[in-house]
Amino acid sequence: MTTTSVNIRVPEHTCHAIACGKPVTPKVLMCRKHWGMVPKDLQIGVWQTYRPGQEKTKVVTREYMEARRKAIVAVAEKENIEIPRIYATPI
Ligand SMILES: [Zn+2]
Repeated sequence: MTTTSVNIRVPEHTCHAIACGKPVTPKVLMCRKHWGMVPKDLQIGVWQTYRPGQEKTKVVTREYMEARRKAIVAVAEKENIEIPRIYATPI
């Protein structure tokens, strides 16, 4: 697997689930409730691509962005929320 670094501003400090916005620590992707709705394999995908300190450096891998997208989409599907176009296609 090749790991490419990309400079993407990671929106921080709030739950990344669509229409949530609950404040969370920058280390985690979602609030407890939404993270609990992410299927286990997608949770693992997020942690496997997470690089310690990325919330400070703002440098994340493309793989992380994709894992994050899948997790966000999975939660939106469970909540029956329309998925914004930016999340609808693979990164
Ligand atoms: Zn949330």
